[in-house]
Amino acid sequence: MKPTYKPVAAHQHGNCACHPVIGSKKEAAPLAADAPAAGAAKPAAAAATASQKAPASPSAGMKPPTKLEYPFKEYPESGKIVEVAEGIFWLSTPLPFRLRAINAYLIEEKEGWTIVDCGYGAEGARTEWEQVWQNQMKDKPVTRVVVTHFHPDHFGNAGWMQEKWGVRPSMSETEWAFGNLAAQNLNTDAIEPRCVFYAKNGLSKPFVDQFRNEVFRYPHGCPTVPDSFNCLKDGEVLSINNSNWRVMIGRGHSPEHVCLYNNDLGIMMAGDQVLPEISPNVSVWHIEPNANPLGDFLDTMDRFRPAMRKDTLVLPSHRRPFRGVHDRFDELEHHHHLRLAEIMAATGPAGITAGDLLPMIFPPNLDGHQLGFAMNEALAHLNYLMYEGKLVRRTDAGGIIRFHRT
Ligand SMILES: [Zn+2]
Ligand SMILES: [Zn+2]
Repeated sequence: MKPTYKPVAAHQHGNCACHPVIGSKKEAAPLAADAPAAGAAKPAAAAATASQKAPASPSAGMKPPTKLEYPFKEYPESGKIVEVAEGIFWLSTPLPFRLRAINAYLIEEKEGWTIVDCGYGAEGARTEWEQVWQNQMKDKPVTRVVVTHFHPDHFGNAGWMQEKWGVRPSMSETEWAFGNLAAQNLNTDAIEPRCVFYAKNGLSKPFVDQFRNEVFRYPHGCPTVPDSFNCLKDGEVLSINNSNWRVMIGRGHSPEHVCLYNNDLGIMMAGDQVLPEISPNVSVWHIEPNANPLGDFLDTMDRFRPAMRKDTLVLPSHRRPFRGVHDRFDELEHHHHLRLAEIMAATGPAGITAGDLLPMIFPPNLDGHQLGFAMNEALAHLNYLMYEGKLVRRTDAGGIIRFHRT
């Protein structure tokens, strides 16, 4: 029988539609890479609308995202692209886990197509790409593939596309490197070092074992990695269909995440950096235990906010395109600060471990894959508080890492 968390603490949160891990039972899958299978059906528009309208739970304290506007009520049909702005198309491809779908965007140019993100490297997404190529791309080749970040739902088919079209992906250097390492079961896909890290941070053995047994491995969603890439740098401008798209690097969700922003059109291809309804996962990994990804994530919003038009149409990688990005930044910031305050309130004289936080801030019955991301995200909040000077990190006599009030 699988172990399950018991809601032992007072702060058991209700519906918070803005976070896939913390405090959300509906959206319990962490938004990172390859979460486990929970059906590949696309989210129904009706369901998405319902979750928008659902009042935030008083305990979660989230403002409902009423200020966001969704110009498209329906998701594209399977294997079909929908025009979201002149010459810019939206494709929704399936994921074999709870996030259900990832969006790719296509820009038509005179001689070919630019694709932004590739979908999960599995049969379902490839079938949809094949249908689109055959039926809707007007016999033009793919001439450029932009990958926002290395998670397999974004990078997974880049190798397959390179084989088919001879196009190497355009992406940032760090995302390229991380993808290559993970494909060799290193870095974020080094499972035994992750187990040791989680145990030291207070995850009990049954849950460590569950993580080990159920984690999805990176090559499952990214079976082949392209042999070369084109490097994208912050501030670089790509001319796509005679229009200027500026590379804006986001941090916190992944190390050097590429967003493409077009100020003339008022459009951002945001990847997983900015999402409606769900909060991008922020993770501390065993490879960099002193990282402050939540600080990086909040800093990114501070950088992006003044650089973006308020009426920007955000084309996110999950859920639907939306307007209201400045309000969305406010919501995400509010959400994380609320969570930080709750963690401080829960930290008693004995201190707290990341493992202690799980039953308090996450829904019960996380599967093993989600447990890993939940631990990473709990640590992201604890490390943030450490860098704020509110908590100090110590190793206790049993070798367990605990955070204490300063
Ligand atoms: Zn991601
Ligand atoms: Zn994603």
